[in-house]
Amino acid sequence: MKQYTAIYVRVSTEEQVENYSIESQINLALEICKNDNIENYKLFIDDGYSGRSLKRPKIKELISEIYKSLIDKVIITDIDRLSRNVVDLSTLIELFINYKVLLISAYGNAKITTADDRLIMRFKGSIAQHTSEKISEHVLRGLKGGLEKGDYIFAHAPYGYVKCNDNKKMLEPVLNEIENVKKIFYYYSVKDLSIEKIKIQLMQENINIKTNAISRILKNEKYTGQFKYQNQYFSGFGLLTLITKEEFEYVQQKLKGHYKEKINDYLFFKKVVCFDCKKILSCVSTVKKNKTYLYYTCLNENCSSYYKRINENFLIVEYSKKIVNLYNKNHFTFHKVNHPNLNYYKITSLDQLSKEQIKETIIKYFKVQAIKFK
Ligand SMILES: [Zn+2]
Repeated sequence: MKQYTAIYVRVSTEEQVENYSIESQINLALEICKNDNIENYKLFIDDGYSGRSLKRPKIKELISEIYKSLIDKVIITDIDRLSRNVVDLSTLIELFINYKVLLISAYGNAKITTADDRLIMRFKGSIAQHTSEKISEHVLRGLKGGLEKGDYIFAHAPYGYVKCNDNKKMLEPVLNEIENVKKIFYYYSVKDLSIEKIKIQLMQENINIKTNAISRILKNEKYTGQFKYQNQYFSGFGLLTLITKEEFEYVQQKLKGHYKEKINDYLFFKKVVCFDCKKILSCVSTVKKNKTYLYYTCLNENCSSYYKRINENFLIVEYSKKIVNLYNKNHFTFHKVNHPNLNYYKITSLDQLSKEQIKETIIKYFKVQAIKFK
């Protein structure tokens, strides 16, 4: 029996006023077909139906076709097109598995508004992995080809943007939303507010954004003006640079809990100021391969050294002469070392002083020093 590929697209009445149309879903699905050499396909379009139930004419038809073993692949733009109800979704997935239907999804950023949506997002993690393994390289290459041509091929525009009315493959900014994105990054990284506190702060400014939306915004690389897709960076598409790459990277580390301050660990806590703005440098740390690295950074966003970091070890060696003098030792050898962030002197026999001794000396005698970042 010859089986065919089903393309399922759906848009609800509320979604119609927003920006993902039946047309763009179909285009994306057809692109997948083209790239995967799928010629035998049939469209199932539920226009104006909510994903909260399966009371949709075309999804019913699709299900009955699967029962007849007529369908071998289902293409969707996003899993939430199938259903926004977790129970229905798991029923459908089970059906696909039982009837050996391959689910192909061109993932975009889905909207998350309810508890059900959150569960679906969790679902997505496992399904995304399952399907992405099966999406052929051809399809992925095709989508990448679209990006290379300068087309924004994803199903949804990220928060802060809409797809242009005259060119659905370009984004245009929604100015008040763009301001909100900037605020969210500012509150998180500079003001050090938790996601929950950012939500409250925004509410006080009459801006209503849910916590999981805030968290997704903080993780969305597109706000740097460029993003990675299949190991390649893309920019353009109308994307603006709302934050620098450095800032974004800092936020990602912070989200992973790598920047939790353990003040006691920092030898130079409140001992070092920024050369440019004279503000006390903040302590931050990263964890790589179970090893913790301590840094000092200027978190004054108006400063030219904003977000530049210096490793604590470099500070130790930079000020080692002073530390050693304070410790009354005079027989050390110094070597000048050029480092991208700082020129420093290396003392070959610094380890003669234990970290405890250094700490003691710094706490007792050390005066605030200005660090000049290069
Ligand atoms: Zn500064």
